[in-house]
Amino acid sequence: AGLESSERDPNLDRDGYKPGIENSDRINATILSLVRNEELDGILQAMKDLERTWNHKFNYPWTFFNDVPFTEEFKKKTSEVTKAECRYELIPKEHWEVPSWINMDLFKESVQILKENDIQYADKVSYHQMCRWNSGLFYKHPALKDVQYYWRVEPNVHFFCDVDYDVFRYMQDNNKTYGFTINLYDAPKSIPTLWPETVKFLAAHPEYLHDNNAQNWVTDRIRRPNHNQLANGYSTCHFWSNFEVGDMGFWRSQAYEDYFQHLDRAGGFFYERWGDAPVHSIALGLFEDKSRIHCPVLRFRDIGYQHIPFFNCPNSGKCKGCVTGRFTDGEAWLNKEDCRPNWFKAIDRDHPRRP
Ligand code: GDP
Ligand code: MN
Repeated sequence: AGLESSERDPNLDRDGYKPGIENSDRINATILSLVRNEELDGILQAMKDLERTWNHKFNYPWTFFNDVPFTEEFKKKTSEVTKAECRYELIPKEHWEVPSWINMDLFKESVQILKENDIQYADKVSYHQMCRWNSGLFYKHPALKDVQYYWRVEPNVHFFCDVDYDVFRYMQDNNKTYGFTINLYDAPKSIPTLWPETVKFLAAHPEYLHDNNAQNWVTDRIRRPNHNQLANGYSTCHFWSNFEVGDMGFWRSQAYEDYFQHLDRAGGFFYERWGDAPVHSIALGLFEDKSRIHCPVLRFRDIGYQHIPFFNCPNSGKCKGCVTGRFTDGEAWLNKEDCRPNWFKAIDRDHPRRP
């Protein structure tokens, strides 16, 4: 039996949280989204889901990034679906443009090989630029200079479950660097030299390898049901980075900066199709303490999420619109792309029972 609405403290919303952007309990964090003007409907949908399930209780600001200016319509419509502050940021040219040392003739030749291997988006320069920016540049944007934690959101993703606690505060209080929901294998042909380059980097910088790393998850010769080849030594397991809650302190560390510079010079963001997911994941698996990486699935009642074609749908009365335990609504073989069991093994936890 709740209070009648007339008796309710006018300073609290229905969930007992103080509404409004004046709330001073927030920690230093933002929701962020790299998005195109043309994806307005998709980002509105994702925003509405995250606002309904979580952010209306906390009002963390939204920071939108784009390589071209946002339209007035984009700004108006997005700011209408949240009470929180919205920031619209242009990416500096020098963060987005193809670096001077990339040879575009070689790029075009490489695209042919990638296409023969069915690597999606290989011929879209902007896709390579996006992967590079998400790997090593987003957290260097001046608008994030004084911000520590972020939650990455893409257009068209879904959030299904009510989350009643401050996820950023959870990260801070529990000393977490990174949180993920979905963990997958990658297409080995998109990253053939990523691991060999990583091995070179490690040889030059053995001091960056963390004592409590998750190296097994990165290198294990696990039987991979569909493609039993590894990517030249890399398991291809990666945190699916369209969902990320993270502490930018890790990306800003000397270890990660040196690693990114090494990879960037090696050219694989363009001559191959290195994604930010495997790059982030390898770095976390090698240079971070694995106990600082959080998987909400272990608690079994947490952040319900979908980016086509995969789901994280926990067993919880707080979720609406997804099927508990479902991993994909695509073709059946996609179920075998789940790499979470290997993660649980790497961190010495049993794979949680399927509900
Ligand atoms: P996928 O998830 O790998 O299929 O790739 P997406 O097309 O979803 O792109 C990943 C993210 O980067 C999404 O948030 C897109 O909105 C964003 N994105 C990709 N390319 C560009 C681009 O050229 N400009 C901008 N502003 N955003 C982009
Ligand atoms: Mn996407």
